[in-house]
Amino acid sequence: MDNNPTIAAIATAPGRGGVGVVRLSGKNLLPMAQKLSGGKTPQPRKALYTDFVDVEGTVIDNGLLLYFAAPASFTGEDVIELQGHGGPVVLQMLLQCCLQLGARLAEPGEFTKRAFLNNKLDLAQAESVADLIDASSQSAARMAVRSLKGVFSQEIHRLVDDLITLRMLVEATLDFPEEDIDFLQAADASGKLDHLCIQLDKVLRQAQQGALLREGMNVVLVGAPNVGKSSLLNALAGDEVAIVTDIAGTTRDTVREQITLEGVPVHIIDTAGLRETEDVVERIGIERSQQAVQQADVALVLVDQREGINTTTAAILAQLPAGLHKIEVHNKIDLTGEAASSVSRETGDLVAFTDASQVIALSAKTGAGLDLLRQALLQQVGWQGESEGLFLARTRHIQALEMAREELANASLCQNNQIELFAEHLRLAQNALNEITGEFSADDLLGVIFSRFCIGK
Ligand code: GDP
Ligand code: ZN
Repeated sequence: MDNNPTIAAIATAPGRGGVGVVRLSGKNLLPMAQKLSGGKTPQPRKALYTDFVDVEGTVIDNGLLLYFAAPASFTGEDVIELQGHGGPVVLQMLLQCCLQLGARLAEPGEFTKRAFLNNKLDLAQAESVADLIDASSQSAARMAVRSLKGVFSQEIHRLVDDLITLRMLVEATLDFPEEDIDFLQAADASGKLDHLCIQLDKVLRQAQQGALLREGMNVVLVGAPNVGKSSLLNALAGDEVAIVTDIAGTTRDTVREQITLEGVPVHIIDTAGLRETEDVVERIGIERSQQAVQQADVALVLVDQREGINTTTAAILAQLPAGLHKIEVHNKIDLTGEAASSVSRETGDLVAFTDASQVIALSAKTGAGLDLLRQALLQQVGWQGESEGLFLARTRHIQALEMAREELANASLCQNNQIELFAEHLRLAQNALNEITGEFSADDLLGVIFSRFCIGK
């Protein structure tokens, strides 16, 4: 059996559109292209305007047929793109036609997976394809493109190259044991190692900041009825030029909002909206949101400056996970005549009602102090305020970089008479880095990564 059968999928989003695309990848697709176009022979990389016909010769649609001959294609195989009219029925008919001609339905991410297996992309680049499609802000999209074009991978390759140079030095010494005395000084192995650590720390920092832009932060909004939670949510969302999403199923009160602060996605959940409902449909959403509370990075504890904490708020606070960072927000200062302020608990002259590390006085109504809150949120998750030069890294990339960093730290602890151990730590560091670009990856990792793609990509 052919272990790389021809695959086909509708590549455009479901629904209606001006143009819809069916994509095929496989070996030797020219005969299929000829059949689909009713006997015409497409030139590679030239648009062919043609009828699309089924196996009986009936015209299904007309449009453009693009034929890419291997290896000059996205997947590295022969690729055909049928650009027809973008209706769900006509696209299904086109797809069925391809299946009748011997293709099978593509799995999610299978085109990109083939591109990876045919060395068209490395793993970090392949992941950035999905990240680009999923990007929820302009800065996320820009970073995904940078990774797709290989900037992140180049950074990793540079580290690996330096590591290899150092390893060759060390391995050479291992072959001539009588020379290993003072080797580490003579070849300045430790100087080279220090340099590597500095480089790696820099990439790690860029990746961690980028991961923030990718994953964003989760914020829960806590407070008694009428303290101004909905008003604050609207104020934060309303000022935003970026996309604001109302998640479906939260019709009574907005329970969830997504805003972006300096490009960092911030998911805010109003926990009081959750507690008040008796509705069955909303209950389902609540359970989902309660999980989100468990994953929250920050809790905003909202109080009416004039009233302080009441028993309702105290009860909600008691349910929050221990150790969750809290910012206490004193709302409605327009009614008390106070100025907006942001102070840390230790130094502040605002009385904190909770063990929150930061207290902010603001008015959701006038907007005074909102900027202080935004800054406090970004500070809480360690955002350093520059989005240029970052990498939209994934958790697995960060973990691999941290693993490599740890091995380098272990290597630097080795004494002169532990060269073999030194060499081993370097080898493990290199393996960790190679995992990022996929030069050293288990099959199950590939399965996990590509299964999260959409079909047709
Ligand atoms: P929630 O129940 O906590 O969501 O509170 P709401 O946002 O629905 O607000 C309750 C009431 O307080 C509304 O009448 C708001 O207009 C009012 N309110 C909210 N924030 C402020 C504020 O900063 N200043 C003043 N004066 N009123 C506010
Ligand atoms: Zn509300």
